[in-house]
Amino acid sequence: VARTRGLTKRFGTRTVLDGVDLDIRRGEFVALLGRSGSGKSTLLRVLAGLDGDATGALHVGGTVAVAFQEPRLVPWKRVLDNVTLGLRDPDPAEAAGRALAEVGLTGRRDAWPLTLSGGEAQRVSLARALVRNPDLLLLDEPFSALDALTRITVHRLVLDLWDRHRPGVLLVTHDVDEALLLADRVLVLDGGRIAHQSEVGLPRPRRRDHPGLVALHSAL
Ligand code: ATP
Ligand code: MG
Repeated sequence: VARTRGLTKRFGTRTVLDGVDLDIRRGEFVALLGRSGSGKSTLLRVLAGLDGDATGALHVGGTVAVAFQEPRLVPWKRVLDNVTLGLRDPDPAEAAGRALAEVGLTGRRDAWPLTLSGGEAQRVSLARALVRNPDLLLLDEPFSALDALTRITVHRLVLDLWDRHRPGVLLVTHDVDEALLLADRVLVLDGGRIAHQSEVGLPRPRRRDHPGLVALHSAL
């Protein structure tokens, strides 16, 4: 669903992406790790088509949805209208309402973005990406502002969505455990290059049925 060859992006004289070769297949969940400033968000922006002047080959098939590192909600639109923004669906309000329920924000659908906590805003942004059922889902540290319990719920939500619709997912995270829990393959970006990649190689159902997670879920 996404393929790049020699993808390069410069800001002035700084080379931020330096010949990235990346393949994400439909139904594959890829985690992207790397130091701050290594180019992760830039790579996501380029994949999302938001950065026109990258060089090299880029092919993305199907629809793309992004949850950015910062939630980027439209401040003068209520929560529900932020989720339905540009949504092509026979009943956008119903679909958005369902997505908000899934991220635990039913009670905030009529709230203004500026009245949300950081974690709530991040969940709205996640609902906005999930409701689109994209072929390629780009997630830039979407869980970092969530409290530990909400994070577990939202992990499960993302995995459920991934199970149902089988998009390709590229998830940026600084949390190695999270990467190993969720992803099929882990990439490390360093200085704009893919410095390492490996398959996680454990069956996902076993990871999802981890006793700690199950215990937490029954406690919630
Ligand atoms: P973090 O983990 O902190 O989010 P990152 O890996 O996502 O880091 P990027 O945001 O992709 O890093 O930035 C990579 C480099 O590109 C940084 O050195 C940053 O300063 C630079 N950069 C990003 N956007 C711009 C811009 N619009 N203009 C100039 N430099 C930029
Ligand atoms: Mg970033």
